Amino acid sequence: MIRLYLSEPMPVFAADLAIALNSDQSRYLMSVMRRQVGDEVSVFNGRDGEWLAVIHEAGKKHVVLRLTVQTRPQGHALGPTLAVALIKRTPLEYIVEKATELGAARIQLLITRRSNADHTKVERLKLIAQEAAEQTERLDVPEILAPIRLDAFLSAPGCEAILFGDEETTHEAERVTRRLHEVLSTLTGNAAILIGPEGGFDDGERQSLRARADVHPVNLGPRILRADTAAIAALTLYQAVCGDWR
Ligand code: SAH
Repeated sequence: MIRLYLSEPMPVFAADLAIALNSDQSRYLMSVMRRQVGDEVSVFNGRDGEWLAVIHEAGKKHVVLRLTVQTRPQGHALGPTLAVALIKRTPLEYIVEKATELGAARIQLLITRRSNADHTKVERLKLIAQEAAEQTERLDVPEILAPIRLDAFLSAPGCEAILFGDEETTHEAERVTRRLHEVLSTLTGNAAILIGPEGGFDDGERQSLRARADVHPVNLGPRILRADTAAIAALTLYQAVCGDWR
């Protein structure tokens, strides 16, 4: 069944509501997927749950759906925030797709002293998140938040705990980092997972992070992981220990 995320402003979903698709979605349905009037699709908008809809009218550029029945109520279990420093385009796009599949509520892009800030196309990342949400059968699409500096993020992280992927202590005998699953099992409020760039965090950033009571330096094992591996590993453990993996 084709699933479509409807992002345009529209009334609350209800039976018999007619919804006009935009030209991209109309073309996708009729030309690419070769659907016809009377065929069914599944739609969601991130607020009203998932609904079945029937193709009611169909021009090449203009399709009208009619909602029939709600198939899934809107869940409200919010996943973690992933705060990730800008890295090269391909691994960053990979992180957005995998973080969507792994239930991240939002992805905050960060500028750090060693981040790779020369090219980020936020609109493209939003489209990747939307397509991943359709494929993974989520009922919402994670917000992709435009890059801000690390200190701006820290001044208003929007969560109770920041799980700071601190690779610095990977080889140190006296670890200051704790094992991620131990920290996760003590979490009471919403959390952000913080992952640095290919070059890691610099000493100044690490010190200011470690000085904060709401920041938990965590290690992701004895090996240095690439940023995309680290983001996926941390999200996986989060969902398994305190998230929506039942
Ligand atoms: N400085 C590293 C590269 C950083 S990896 C190097 O020397 O190559 C990118 C980010 O992934 C890090 O900033 C950190 O947030 C996370 N990360 C990678 N391996 C980690 C580990 N073993 N423990 C905790 N975080 C890790």
